[in-house]
Amino acid sequence: MELKGKKVLVVGLGKSGLAAALFLRRRGAQVTVSDIRSAQALGKDIPALIEQGIAVEAGGHGLLTFRRQDLIVVSPGVPLTTPELAQAQKFGIPIIGEVELAARFLKGKVLAITGSNGKTTTTSLCGKILEKARERVHVGGNIGLPVIGLVDDSREDVWSVLEVSSFQLETTETFHPDIAVILNITPDHLDRHGSFENYVAAKERIFAVQTAEDMLILNADDDVASRAAARAKSQVFWFSRKRAIRQGAFVHEGVVLFRASEQAAPEPILKIEEIPLKGAHNVENVLAAVCAARLAGAAPEAIRSAVAGFRAVEHRLEFVAEIDGVSYYNDSKATNVDAAIKAIESFPSGIHLILGGKDKDSDYRQLRPLMAGRVKAVYTIGSAAEKIITHLDGAVKLVSAGTLDNAVSLAAEAAEKGDVVLLAPACSSFDQFDNYEHRGQTFKTTVLARRGAAAWQNASA
Ligand code: ADP
Repeated sequence: MELKGKKVLVVGLGKSGLAAALFLRRRGAQVTVSDIRSAQALGKDIPALIEQGIAVEAGGHGLLTFRRQDLIVVSPGVPLTTPELAQAQKFGIPIIGEVELAARFLKGKVLAITGSNGKTTTTSLCGKILEKARERVHVGGNIGLPVIGLVDDSREDVWSVLEVSSFQLETTETFHPDIAVILNITPDHLDRHGSFENYVAAKERIFAVQTAEDMLILNADDDVASRAAARAKSQVFWFSRKRAIRQGAFVHEGVVLFRASEQAAPEPILKIEEIPLKGAHNVENVLAAVCAARLAGAAPEAIRSAVAGFRAVEHRLEFVAEIDGVSYYNDSKATNVDAAIKAIESFPSGIHLILGGKDKDSDYRQLRPLMAGRVKAVYTIGSAAEKIITHLDGAVKLVSAGTLDNAVSLAAEAAEKGDVVLLAPACSSFDQFDNYEHRGQTFKTTVLARRGAAAWQNASA
């Protein structure tokens, strides 16, 4: 793809938009960036862009800006239904995302991971395993460095391990990972995708143009993800926590096994008890990573030692502290109902659960069956609180806490020795926080301040 002299518009100046604009400019394109946020909000990025000769349109999209382009690169945060984009599409201007742009230039093999939950955990685990196996690897995508940022350093002998979201997949065309993983598909982002069908279709783009040489790894325990197999042109491998698999990774008598094919004998990789992460969902993430890494050529011993040495990624069911016999866990990244379910299922009883934030058209009634016996009380925060209270009414003790600080105080007061205070909000954070990291950090700071106060009290008693 020749970019020299081409007019390219980058829509949305997030992390990946910024990286895409700079990449396009380096390759000689005439680049414009357009964002609906004000110049003030975009702040420090603007001078850097202008210095590189990139035009910046802030505070709204000009219709004309969208017309005079050879290519539009759209950021994952910008819906394709944005009127200016829809119009440009009508005019026949090609619209792609940053992942697709990168795919056209990226050298070497690609392992890409998608799913509703577990992407970051599994992606970083795969990266660690391949490093341990002495492969050269770059990790990026939704997880940190945008994929386009990996292009310049990519080489034929380097693996790119990529976390890809449904928003990023929506705008791919030729992107076909050598190994693709779909961890699970449960309702999320329905406000943006419009329907569950659209969301599933976006996820399935991860293998839509794969060839017979490529491999697809699916979760056999997830009905929606399993159904994708019928549409795959690539070689399908499976993972399952619940049953033996003919080709892929599974658990048998407490041991994770990998089976390369129906004819091959299963090979032991590691014991379940060696997995240092909490929760059955993390066994699924490990199974997916074992399968992917084995297919990428990692030796069983490298896989075992990398998994055993892996620690929870921050804000993913992260242990924060134990204060007066009560454990505090930060799962701020549980931004949808399924992730919250998985977090709750990780503890057998005594949970003080903090729920709420910005609603994403979610159905919190799905949490009802999990409450009895496990959850002592739910503390609601943020703008979704009222809906959550309606959906959980009668299933559990409900406490309207309003803010996260208040929720931590109320939960700490009520909790007894052996209980767990769990932030697994099932909502996004944007009503009260900048992002889920900010929310998780606030939780940790509040908890650690309590630990400081408790230690001081105990010392002076
Ligand atoms: P993603 O990048 O897909 O958001 P993360 O690894 O960041 O995934 O985890 C997001 C949330 O989902 C966390 O709350 C985590 O505890 C939970 N989670 C992790 N893996 C799974 C899984 N396989 N199934 C369901 N929930 C999961």
